[in-house]
Formats: sequence, C-alpha cells, structure tokens
Amino acid sequence: MPPVKNKAATSKTTSKKATTASKKTTTASKKSPAVTKKPAAKQAKKSALEGFSHFTPYKIKKGEKYMNPAQVEHFGVILAAWKKDLMEEVDRTVHHMQDEAANFPDPNDRATQESEFTMELRTRDRERKLIKKIDEALEKLGHDEYGYCDVCGIEVGVRRLEARPTANLCIDCKTLDEIREKQRG
Ligand SMILES: [Zn+2]
Repeated sequence: MPPVKNKAATSKTTSKKATTASKKTTTASKKSPAVTKKPAAKQAKKSALEGFSHFTPYKIKKGEKYMNPAQVEHFGVILAAWKKDLMEEVDRTVHHMQDEAANFPDPNDRATQESEFTMELRTRDRERKLIKKIDEALEKLGHDEYGYCDVCGIEVGVRRLEARPTANLCIDCKTLDEIREKQRG
C-alpha cells in the first residue's frame, strides 16, 4: 500500500510546538546514540505515519545471532522514538482542531473546515492504529518474539524491520498476502 500524503495534517501542524511541549510523553525519554537528531527542514514535513528514518542502521557483525540483546535494544529504541513522534503528531492534530473550532462563524468556511476536520480525524485514526501496532511490537520485543514472521515463523530480517519496524510478516508471506488481497478485490 503506497503511503497516502495528507496535506492537511502535515502542512498545517508546524506552529503548535509550544502547546505540545508541555505534554511530553515519558515512553521514549531514554536517550540513545542509535537515534539521530532530526535534520530540521527535511524531517519536519514528513509525517511519522510514513515511517521512521532518523536512526543509524544497525551494523550486523559476522556470525552474530539474530535478535541478540544489541539488536533487541536497537529496535526498542527505534520503536519507542517512532511512537513518541506519532503521539506528538496526534497532539498537534488535536490542538489544531481545538484552536480552529471557534474561528469560523461563516457557514461556508464552516463547511470547508468540517471536511478538513474529517481528514484530520482520519489521520488521527491511522496514527492511533499505528501506535497500537508499535505497542504490540514492543510487547513482542519484551518477550523475545519480535522479528519473526507471524505466518511461517522465519526471521523477518534486520533491514526489513528497519524499513518497517512493525513488519510482522516475512517478505514471502507479505507478497502472498498482497496477492490474495488483490484477488479479493
Ligand atoms: Zn513468512
């Protein structure tokens, strides 16, 4: 599924830094060298819904065990940081809607605003679902179950997980899944 760009959510939510700063979540407060600083201009526009990319790719040593403590730590940091980004986005959307709700007495403006809100609510819904998936991934990580295909049980792979940390299918099962999805129409 190609990522859907939501202009309303990404372009209009940049000025609410001050209000969200006071609602910091504590889930990902642990600083780690694996998470790099956001290059301000480039990352600001990209929605956390599309993925998480500001981290240093894991260097796999020869013969190292899959999902050894270092890899578990690596993905734990990524998942927590991604979740934090998403939660901040949710906060910005909520504040944006609260701030704008009282500003349009004109009925025409209201209609425009309502369709904008519908879009933002949809974005929020997607954000919430993704946060839930991240929580599930973190739960698995804590039980040494993270990184394996839900269907066939093989390793999903470090690079694939870095591209999509919530991936719960190996590439083969995912491909099959997509083919079936298409056939269903
Ligand atoms: Zn599989």
